[in-house]
Amino acid sequence: MAILVVGSVAFDAVETPSGRRDRCVGGAATYFALAASYFTPVRVIGVVGEDFGPAEEAILTRRSVDTRGIEHVPGKSFFWSGSYMKNLNEAQTLSTELNVFQSFSPKIPAEYEDSEYLFLANIDPVLQADVRRKMPKVKMVCGDTMNYWIKDHAENLARVLRNLDALLINDGEVKMLAKENNLVVAARKVLAMGPKSLVVKHGEYGATAFFSDESFGGTVVSTPFRAPALPLAEVVDPTGAGDSFAGGFFGYIASQPTFTPSVFRRAMFYGGVMGSFAVERFGTERLQQLDTSEIEERFALFRQLSHLE
Ligand code: AMP
Repeated sequence: MAILVVGSVAFDAVETPSGRRDRCVGGAATYFALAASYFTPVRVIGVVGEDFGPAEEAILTRRSVDTRGIEHVPGKSFFWSGSYMKNLNEAQTLSTELNVFQSFSPKIPAEYEDSEYLFLANIDPVLQADVRRKMPKVKMVCGDTMNYWIKDHAENLARVLRNLDALLINDGEVKMLAKENNLVVAARKVLAMGPKSLVVKHGEYGATAFFSDESFGGTVVSTPFRAPALPLAEVVDPTGAGDSFAGGFFGYIASQPTFTPSVFRRAMFYGGVMGSFAVERFGTERLQQLDTSEIEERFALFRQLSHLE
């Protein structure tokens, strides 16, 4: 079943203890789409400038990602630069240039209208809400955001949160959104803002899901669920780990015939698997050339990592 994703399609500059890159194709929608493409068909809505040419777009189309919803307009693509020199788990943003995203009005191509799943990747919550409104018939909507939007766009973000089946967000950001330092209390507060479920990403320490009574229709799951991350000897570039987690998570859910607590838990593991691949190389490099057997091998490793006899 196809997933439609709206979010940033960008150029990134990053510095990490392993080195630096001045210009990698990045963006939340790009990482999400590549990771999800191993599980299900993916369609992208976004905007790029004249600097984003056929070679850049081919990164997505080589993975059969449908890019007919990426508009090309005069100007420069979204640009983000970040540093992981102080903390590999959390990017320090050095600059964010919205560029062509500033005046973007999303249009849904007719071929995208039958998408059953919608992912609102990190971008201005006004754009997230706009795409949500234009896709009223989708079966499930998940979303992500970050400190940049939580800080100065809280009201717009609140409108997006009200209608989400699941919010995927970093642990620092969940605390910022709830204005609360304890994770469990913060999670409760964020669930009260509307999302039916909440997946909190803890970088190299895995992810925790919190559920509300509405998470699975009739089935109430009251215990949170923690999925591991893979301990790696070298994290080359953490950029995109969260979006790749989301791609593995939602891609797996969209590939399954039903949505149950057990599918949700497996999806958390597939999220961890795709996040772990993303950080092994700079940019999207590793996500461009995986195969299904590598993904399944790593999934088996994740099971071993947390299996209790
Ligand atoms: P993450 O998965 O959180 O590491 O996401 C990294 C990606 O998010 C990068 O490729 C950036 O281009 C993109 N990004 C950074 N800041 C923003 C923002 N304020 N809005 C949308 N996308 C962003």
